[in-house]
Amino acid sequence: KEIDAHELINGVVNTFRLKVEKNNGTLEAELNAQDPVIFVDEMHFTNVVFNLLDNAVKYKSPDRDIALKIRTWNENGKLCISVEDNGLGIKKENLKKIFDKFYRVHTGNLHDVKGFGLGLAYVKKIIADHKGSIRAESELNVGTKFIITIPLFKEE
Ligand code: ATP
Ligand code: MG
Repeated sequence: KEIDAHELINGVVNTFRLKVEKNNGTLEAELNAQDPVIFVDEMHFTNVVFNLLDNAVKYKSPDRDIALKIRTWNENGKLCISVEDNGLGIKKENLKKIFDKFYRVHTGNLHDVKGFGLGLAYVKKIIADHKGSIRAESELNVGTKFIITIPLFKEE
């Protein structure tokens, strides 16, 4: 279905903002893309955005309040969406494994957070099914940024 990506993102952001602000955190949306219409499965794509924000909250740093940013822009006729946090960050050697099924970073008792290690494998599969791609950039103890690139919908 043709979906306005900004409407979809705003829907997810609104449900998350409450959760983040309850914990003294902030969630900023800078949705600057033009005509952000994409041809996606609405339910799955909502889950993708939800998963990224869910991780950003789950893997917060114990040292500071959560600050999240979600942005959109256009690049080479495609839509880019980034989700950026100021959380625990991920070591370079682990970064390449985070999209693998069942992979979770071992952090001892640093964060006693439960999960199956499936969220990002799901995200990657859904994005790939929509001819898009996703990559992650991270710095340990600074934060993590996920960037999705997905084709815009074009009427034929
Ligand atoms: P699930 O999503 O299935 O509940 P999960 O969150 O452990 O479990 P993924 O979402 O696939 O699984 O993430 C894999 C691992 O990557 C996580 O266990 C965590 O170690 C790391 N990770 C993911 N997102 C972030 C993030 N924003 N900041 C720091 N680490 C992250
Ligand atoms: Mg997860």
